[in-house]
Amino acid sequence: MTAYESRAIICVHVYERTRPVLFAFVEDGELMCFCGAVHPDTADSYRVAGFNHLVEHDPTLASLPQLAEGRQAERIAVGEPWMEGPLDD
Ligand SMILES: [Zn+2]
Repeated sequence: MTAYESRAIICVHVYERTRPVLFAFVEDGELMCFCGAVHPDTADSYRVAGFNHLVEHDPTLASLPQLAEGRQAERIAVGEPWMEGPLDD
């Protein structure tokens, strides 16, 4: 899965490091890493980051399962196990 080696779409909270990544999914080949909150559907809610930089800030992200297209993983807190399943819209 090349997405993990390259970039992730992150929400502004993860970008500003005010909230951790608690919800991730792959859609249209892009890895999305969000805080789990609801975000306004506007471009300024999201940023692009290197996934490796996210792991540098939060090493527990290295345990994120390799997600196929249309799959999601969520956790209740940093350090808790990821629960993987189909992406629900
Ligand atoms: Zn967020």
